[in-house]
Amino acid sequence: MKKLINEASENYRDFKHPNINSKKLTYTEFAPQLEKLKALNFLTVKQIGVSIERRPIHSIRFGKGPKKIILWTQMHGNEATATRALFDFFSLLQSSGFSELRNQLSNKIELIAIPMLNPDGAERYQRRTALDIDPNRDAVRQQTPEIQTLFSIIEAEKPDWCFNMHDQRNLFNVSGENTPATISFLSPSTNDKTHFTTNQKEAMQLIDCLTSDFAKKASVGIARFTHEFYPTATGDNIQKMGFRTVLVESGGFRGDSNRNVSREVCFNAIVNACYLIASDSWNKGAVDNYLKIPENDTKLFDVLVKNVMLNNSKRTLVDIGVEYSETLNSSGQVVVTSIIKDLGDLSHYFGYQEIDAKGGQLTTTISLGLEANFEIEFENKPTILVRNGCMK
Ligand SMILES: [Zn+2]
Repeated sequence: MKKLINEASENYRDFKHPNINSKKLTYTEFAPQLEKLKALNFLTVKQIGVSIERRPIHSIRFGKGPKKIILWTQMHGNEATATRALFDFFSLLQSSGFSELRNQLSNKIELIAIPMLNPDGAERYQRRTALDIDPNRDAVRQQTPEIQTLFSIIEAEKPDWCFNMHDQRNLFNVSGENTPATISFLSPSTNDKTHFTTNQKEAMQLIDCLTSDFAKKASVGIARFTHEFYPTATGDNIQKMGFRTVLVESGGFRGDSNRNVSREVCFNAIVNACYLIASDSWNKGAVDNYLKIPENDTKLFDVLVKNVMLNNSKRTLVDIGVEYSETLNSSGQVVVTSIIKDLGDLSHYFGYQEIDAKGGQLTTTISLGLEANFEIEFENKPTILVRNGCMK
């Protein structure tokens, strides 16, 4: 089966889903793609709940094998990369060249995918639900219908493995490097500080296998989160309930504003995780190796202007960290806004784009939280113009 998995990975461009190339995936854009999956005889699409605004939440079942996996995506509405990777995975399974892989996986695993757990947030291109509650902090009180739906299915199905799929913001880097963390993992903690539980360790073993496979072929940054326990978070509580849980966070990559690189990496994570579970080879992974994966850090700005003098008489030298944020306008288009996120000595930070402004001076006063619009004048060089975080 490993050979077929490698072929799937190598031929990704041949079968990847054609219509979901934007980072944003609203419920309106998602629904017709989901509808098409209903026609496939190897999948069962079923409504399992409704959001607070009564948009349906669905499960997609694949396979009849003994090892049960529940994988959910887009609990945060503006984090669609894993939903898109999941569509790519179903495209792979319907591709005629991979019917053998489909049959082999189908005999070994049963995958219950819940794409777009937060359809109201997705429709608004926002993280939280329509009630402005962060569903990833509702695992204990369970007041949102979205989280109630997730926990009902986990309690009813008692999966062997759970995959909690998110996107992380661009600011995450591989610790100590200017490399964006294009994919990050965590085997969540269970509030037991004295030792790792068995299922926590087993999830670490699987992550070790996944990341060593990536390290062989991908030139993307891979990192892991630290073991802080979040008392109300979903993954932590599901791990605590005794279900092996893996958190996957798709992240940035230079020149990949629509996250199609991280989507491909996430697709590889899904297909490889299915293989590792189907073949029982996840147990070749080692906890020690997992702990050696570099940590995730938050030292990346979208733009970092280095070594510039403020517009004052004191010749104050600063670096300027600029971060982008995305919202939808009234016609549903994505608007990118930049803000000045930090000022001062940012010499241990990195930027997707870095501008060295040594010898330059700002011509206007700037402040934290304002849009990044400024000019930098030099004695012997042309002026640098920055408008909404972009160099003109
Ligand atoms: Zn998230």
